[in-house]
Amino acid sequence: MQNLTGNWFIKEEAAISDYGNLEEIFERYDFIDYHWINASQIEVAHWVRFKCTFGCSSFGKKGSCPPQVPSVEECRAFFSEYDQAVIFHIAKKVERPEDRVLWSREVSKELLKVEREVFWAGYHKAFMLFMDECRLCSSCTGERESCINKEDSRPGPESLAVDVFSTVRSVGYPIEVLSSYDQEMNRYAFLMVE
Ligand code: SF4
Repeated sequence: MQNLTGNWFIKEEAAISDYGNLEEIFERYDFIDYHWINASQIEVAHWVRFKCTFGCSSFGKKGSCPPQVPSVEECRAFFSEYDQAVIFHIAKKVERPEDRVLWSREVSKELLKVEREVFWAGYHKAFMLFMDECRLCSSCTGERESCINKEDSRPGPESLAVDVFSTVRSVGYPIEVLSSYDQEMNRYAFLMVE
């Protein structure tokens, strides 16, 4: 049986057991495949920013992507201010590229609900990194200042120079370069907790 996120109902054993109230929130929104990590395990690398700058069609067109985001060093400093984070594994296979956009938007809306509930639970630093670039709007303004949904807009981990491949592999999650849309995607959202 699969949920909205396309994941099979397999619960990762939490590395940190003190967050039962947060895990109840994750699972209520069907994010049941997750892994607690120390924030220091999140790898930040300049090559990620270079890949965004040279070779990604979203560069300069998205309000939560480079160059509308902090520098790599500022991103590194941001992550260093956290101790605990959660990786959410979200798997999905789509037939057409446009299917991915709509699915990504719906998952992002659910991730935002999780972030808000974690914040309301007392974790004032809670900050979600979407599993994808921000796709909340059908047409993005391309700039932070003119973003039409500033309250909800969030960057993806790659936008903040996270080496998602190395980071998720370090905890045993699968991720591979894909060559067609009919292959299953393994996407990852990150919740910075405290
Ligand atoms: S909320 Fe809309 S305008 Fe703002 S970054 Fe996301 S897609 Fe672009």
